[in-house]
Amino acid sequence: MTKYLLEKFKELVPYTPGEQPQGGFIKLNTNESPFPPSERARERMKAAFDKLNLYNDPENAELTKVIARCYGLDKENVLVTNGSDEALAFLYIAYAEKGKPFAAPEISYGFYPVFSRLVGAEVKTFPLKEDFSVDEEAFIDCDDNVIFANPNAQTGTFMAVEHIERMLSKPRLVIVDEAYVDFGAQSVKPLVKSRDNLVVVGTLSKSRALAGGRIGFVIAAREIIDELKLIKYSFNPYNLGRAAEALAIGAFEDEKYFSECVSKVIEAREFTDKAVKELGMVTVKSQANFILMRAPGIDGGELKEKLMERGVLVRHFSTPGLSPFIRVTIGSMEQMKTFVKVLKNIISGA
Ligand code: PMP
Repeated sequence: MTKYLLEKFKELVPYTPGEQPQGGFIKLNTNESPFPPSERARERMKAAFDKLNLYNDPENAELTKVIARCYGLDKENVLVTNGSDEALAFLYIAYAEKGKPFAAPEISYGFYPVFSRLVGAEVKTFPLKEDFSVDEEAFIDCDDNVIFANPNAQTGTFMAVEHIERMLSKPRLVIVDEAYVDFGAQSVKPLVKSRDNLVVVGTLSKSRALAGGRIGFVIAAREIIDELKLIKYSFNPYNLGRAAEALAIGAFEDEKYFSECVSKVIEAREFTDKAVKELGMVTVKSQANFILMRAPGIDGGELKEKLMERGVLVRHFSTPGLSPFIRVTIGSMEQMKTFVKVLKNIISGA
């Protein structure tokens, strides 16, 4: 560390992304889609290539309209971002600081505490309930701005919309990170029309198979979108490049492919949940594209290593509460059948 780094950043603990090895593994560790992007996205991106010498539209007007239309909202309710991580960063920069934290679930997306520390806000969390679901009453009762993923990150549990509606009746921001909502949960995006304190964050990284395209978005009341634009235009006005915008438009134009991919993931998730339970695993019921699970008698870290030795990559978190578990991304049916076979060998000691 040099003497030039500002004091306030010296203790920063950055987010650790999941490993990205160069091939050779069945990759079930970072909640990506096992399917390639839509062909329509490829066509759109090819057409965008010829204009890459020019800056893109800083408003990303075309994509903004496509997203607004998809969710039945106005374009003024949408801001597109460089991955939803950037959307989250803008929200923390705009609305959190020392003495003004966002309350979050204790077990959730690991970036929330990182952003809190980056902007100097306290890390305020509520424990999960015994069944690993988010404690809705704690969020309803508190007066802070709140943020949570729904379905929740790492656990895949889902909070019913009626609880979120109760949170919204207090004058504070309710930020719902819907990264995984397309895999069988109910979205609160339509509520943005009537609620000026609801902020929904979305991504094309999961259900629309574009993690490497880096495309996210915020859906909120016009005033909130305008405030987030203050941050965006003070930071990186061309934040979503021409190629990424084209990919995203192509993905939204191919709803048939999107639905097919989502259905296949849901089918593979239900298969996996049943098959691993038959092997004696304990799972948390998931509405997302991953399952948190543990093998009685084997620590999560050890199980992750054993799977890795056999060519299957899953995620393990050594944080309290999660260390007995592994988090397994749902891949294709074929990948999940292999995963189950490998797991069976480990459990039986073969
Ligand atoms: N929110 C949640 C809950 C996530 O799990 C992730 C990624 N793993 C993100 C946001 C960020 O996704 P991206 O930046 O790829 O849109």
